[in-house]
Amino acid sequence: MNNYFNTQIYNPDYQESDIDTLIEEHMSLVVGDFWGIQSFLFDGLTTVTAAKVLRSKSAFIQVFTEVLAKYICKRLSIDEKYIISINAGKFEILVPFPNADINEIQKKVDTYFIEKFYALSGVILCSINVSRSQWRDNYKSFRDDVAKEIEKSKFNKFDLIHTNPILEYDTGITNQNLCKVCNLRRRKEEHDYCHQCEIFVEFGKILTQNNISMSSDELGIIFDDFKTIIEVDERLKSYIPKEEENGNPLLFESIAEKSCKNSDVGIKALGILKADVDSMGNFIKQSDVTDSFTNFDKFSKGLDNFFSIYIPRLLREKYQNIYTVFSGGDDLFLVGAWDEIMEFSRDIQKQFKEFVYSKETKLSISFGIAIAKPSTPISYLANHTEELLKASKEIDDEKDALTIWGESVKWADYIQVHTKLSEAFKDYQDLKTTTIYRFLEFCDMSKHIDKDIKNTLWKSKLNYLFSRNMDMSKDSSLMEILNENIEKHPSETKIFLCEFIYKQREH
Ligand SMILES: [Zn+2]
Repeated sequence: MNNYFNTQIYNPDYQESDIDTLIEEHMSLVVGDFWGIQSFLFDGLTTVTAAKVLRSKSAFIQVFTEVLAKYICKRLSIDEKYIISINAGKFEILVPFPNADINEIQKKVDTYFIEKFYALSGVILCSINVSRSQWRDNYKSFRDDVAKEIEKSKFNKFDLIHTNPILEYDTGITNQNLCKVCNLRRRKEEHDYCHQCEIFVEFGKILTQNNISMSSDELGIIFDDFKTIIEVDERLKSYIPKEEENGNPLLFESIAEKSCKNSDVGIKALGILKADVDSMGNFIKQSDVTDSFTNFDKFSKGLDNFFSIYIPRLLREKYQNIYTVFSGGDDLFLVGAWDEIMEFSRDIQKQFKEFVYSKETKLSISFGIAIAKPSTPISYLANHTEELLKASKEIDDEKDALTIWGESVKWADYIQVHTKLSEAFKDYQDLKTTTIYRFLEFCDMSKHIDKDIKNTLWKSKLNYLFSRNMDMSKDSSLMEILNENIEKHPSETKIFLCEFIYKQREH
């Protein structure tokens, strides 16, 4: 078995599943997949209240899949040891007999999501037969079948033709009695929230505490009379900034206020970061990861641990004003003080590469980052950063890119330019903003030389600017560096300059 990860960066503490004891001649794999996660988390949410419920909604997805997997074991009368994986909204149960019937359970799950979340999200279940020999000798093609089966089931969500669900909204909703958190058509009860949002708010508070366990029915996850204990562990808690006085989640507005905290200047804004591992599907197909269950298990658990354990630890230690919406599986959604988000993104793309860059595993992460005032609706920002991430993925086949401030750049080029310019600008921290805006103009001109021949003039303009406003006897090296980078890397230079300006601006 391969070592996919560099355990000097982080040791995923992998516990090998004792899979051999579970294998039978004829079995079925029951797979669950929570879909509509983006919609489940963000729809209707206003930024003002978002921090109270986002982490808990995200943790809820984890808890829900775990409770459901255990409930399925009970319904199929098998031990919970047959649950072979649960992470990032997915689970797999290796049932020791073929044709595991999940139809009734699927109906119950559908009813739950129709009643509580108006069918905007849900969990699909598939049951796929697998023989001992397929599992042992042909795991790769079996993995492929599983992926196809899940895709197929996604077309049949809620089995709409047969069930024709009626969504029951509360009646008599007005602006006065509408729930202030979800803005779904639900009436607020105590406080300003509906019953479901109240559960999320309370769960959010529990997640900020230590060593707590609770019963699944306290979260409103009830199938028949099935209950199970949920341990609020490190993975579930993840990391979010808290208010000093009462330990409640720090609101996004207050998180924005923490930007540029060690300086008298700099804008106060949120950075919204969405990132995921590039070309996972292709990688899984082409590498030896799916050659056996053990490889696959080790790889996916190791990767998940990097996101769900290592990253929150890093945040707690170094980037305390970043809120984890989710971090698990192979992706990441964070909201934080914008300058910490920038610093973190440079840090984590490097660390991730060191973590996975072995001969067998060549993986990279791409990012989309938006900088916004906390008054911007979070659902808009979630969609917007998704678009930015998509732009990063379209840069070329290798991806490994970042999109921010209207520019998509490759990480390698950006880091190189960022390092050089940071050094060069060290002694120019109080350079006039108007001068930096001129540099930005030159970046745009340099990028668009083919559109307008006048844009070739940027070099002489840069020269003129320096001879008029700067001291050429000591500033000429800054000019040379700018000249070179604006010419070769205008987009990367623009990103550096935008960050520089945002840090210089008066509050
Ligand atoms: Zn609500």
